[in-house]
Amino acid sequence: MSTAVNLPAVTVLGLGPMGRSLAGAFVKAGLRTTVWNRTPGREGDLAERGAVVAATAEEAVAASELIVICVVNYDASDGILRREEVTRALKGRTVVSLTADTPARARDTAEWAAAHGIGYLDGAIMTPAPSIGTPEAVFLHSGPRDLYARYLPALEALGGTHTHLGEETGRAATFDIALLDIFWTAMAGYAHAVAIARAEGVTAGELAPFAQGIATILPPLFEEFARDADDGTYSGEINPITSAASTMSHVVAVSESHGIDAGVMRSVEGLARRVIGLGHGGDGFMRVAEMLGRH
Ligand code: NDP
Repeated sequence: MSTAVNLPAVTVLGLGPMGRSLAGAFVKAGLRTTVWNRTPGREGDLAERGAVVAATAEEAVAASELIVICVVNYDASDGILRREEVTRALKGRTVVSLTADTPARARDTAEWAAAHGIGYLDGAIMTPAPSIGTPEAVFLHSGPRDLYARYLPALEALGGTHTHLGEETGRAATFDIALLDIFWTAMAGYAHAVAIARAEGVTAGELAPFAQGIATILPPLFEEFARDADDGTYSGEINPITSAASTMSHVVAVSESHGIDAGVMRSVEGLARRVIGLGHGGDGFMRVAEMLGRH
């Protein structure tokens, strides 16, 4: 393994599918890479490719200036980082957390890190493990700008695009949560649509090209409706929410005629009907965002 000039040694804690991909990309880019995982033996071919497999988390941390942690959530991450021996070894080093969790957990970890003399950047990965090391990978970061600038050259070994969203630690996790919200509700819609289509004798394969067509309508709508949401105008000129609610009730009816759970669409229709009940029937669907934000 050749060592990348001027790039720090890096440790990757956590060798699930994502941790292994991150470590593999660091090795490939020539960074001196040490790895550790709670359950031994999960390093795959990383050792043959040049990574050092540490026996303990504290040993792994001591090996590098930059520590990347990527485990299932912050309960797991806290269980590793906040063990006394590990916390001691982390002093003066920088942790980049690419573990997904809530903005509050990220902020709490930043406070804990500051109190222990540890640099801390929070991050979120928006693309699947196979994208790591390719131009398709998308990373979001938040935390101190100087730390980000210092470690960006090392993080760039992971490929893709890196965006610093600001110094407020919770911002990367906030974007992550909002984007996961879009992804999983969209996937729920797709799974439900396939169930209904099948019940009516249409295969998923037949539906797929048209499903893709629906997906391509969304990006320009996101942009247009973001302006509406930020301005507080929710024009229903093209499709008032009264009309939208009617189409939702058709989905519920067909779904339930086949005994298929319509819970997700019932919930969406319920939101639309609440907006109408509040006297905004002439507005567009995005009025829902404003209504949900009322406390
Ligand atoms: P998982 O989310 O399944 O996480 C597995 C890793 O977490 C393993 O290293 C596992 O160790 C460790 N772990 C779980 N519980 C504990 C614990 N209590 N103490 C210590 N370690 C623990 O796999 P991924 O690698 O896929 O994901 C890691 C992170 O990356 C997650 O936050 C995920 O949301 C995020 N991510 C993943 C993507 C993907 O495509 N996989 C895409 C985008 C983000 P052990 O082997 O010992 O169980």
